[in-house]
Amino acid sequence: MKHSRLLVLALLALVAAVSSSLPAYAAPDITILATGGTIAGSAETQTQAGYTSGQVGVETLLAAVPQLKELADVSGEQVVNVGSQDMSDAIWLDLASRINTLLATKKTEGIVITHGTDTIEETAYFLNLVVDSDKPVVMTAAMRPSTALSADGPLNIYNAVAVAADIRASGRGVLVVANDDIHSARAVTKTNTTDVQTFVSPERGLIGTTLYGKNTFFRTPYRAHTSGSDFSLKGVKALPRVDIIYMHANFSADIIDAAVANGAKGLVIAGVGNGNMTTEAQAAVARATGAGVAVVRSSRVVSGATGRNVETDDDKLGTVASGELNPAKARVLLKLALLTTKDASDIQAMFDKY
Ligand code: ASP
Repeated sequence: MKHSRLLVLALLALVAAVSSSLPAYAAPDITILATGGTIAGSAETQTQAGYTSGQVGVETLLAAVPQLKELADVSGEQVVNVGSQDMSDAIWLDLASRINTLLATKKTEGIVITHGTDTIEETAYFLNLVVDSDKPVVMTAAMRPSTALSADGPLNIYNAVAVAADIRASGRGVLVVANDDIHSARAVTKTNTTDVQTFVSPERGLIGTTLYGKNTFFRTPYRAHTSGSDFSLKGVKALPRVDIIYMHANFSADIIDAAVANGAKGLVIAGVGNGNMTTEAQAAVARATGAGVAVVRSSRVVSGATGRNVETDDDKLGTVASGELNPAKARVLLKLALLTTKDASDIQAMFDKY
């Protein structure tokens, strides 16, 4: 009896000695960069549809989710406070530079960016190509303003921080977390003007799901991104102008000539079907490529790839096929491509890689 008591005491002393020599658990250091959007929007009442985006600051967003303490050591920075319909090249360049600076430090272990839903897929894909780190970068948004009954922002922020604090999110490129789903920047698109379940990844499916901060991962994007991307913004002060031309029946082809005359260095045709366009539009595109303007064919159809030389002769027209990238994302990639080349086959190789 006496011996077994001594044994228990010795074991307890051993456990105490071992645990005091272990490093204290440190919560992951996550920075939230706020840019505005409906998640930071406000309305006069809790139940009205009309509201203004980008009204509430990052401190208010964080104060609405005190439970973040359970997940991480969170700090907030306000980058801008705009509706994402006003997202611009200048904001993208500032945001990318701030993210790269923060992630280069040992202290910051992940980033969460709050953003409007309208253009989140463009910003996410841009960052996916220019962030130079494998650490988690997670974007989130909301469909209902911060003042609404059942606002979706607070839980989306909670889940986004849980993903950013999860080591398993590393190396998967920029992610978009909304309504319990984890999407990749390349695949995600907004599909509904008002529904909280607006985001889908129609071609590749989800990266994973998150339920009150408990994450499940299904896949890793295989296209090049973040630290595997060759794009660099070092010394870049502005991005080239690229316009999107929306194709339809009875299209006025002089819009293409007007875009070129107004200084577009690249065009994305949001084609019908498999990136198709009218005969007159093809002639205008040939004039554009002949004048050294890069032209990418994408599709206004919500899913499926735009393939090279299917119904449209890319070899003859000097055009590039966007593959799975929708027009908005094809525009992002073309802007970055034009920083280093105007050559259609080099640009096609980038569309095949990223
Ligand atoms: N117009 C808003 C924005 O993109 C819509 C939203 O965030 O849901 O900023």
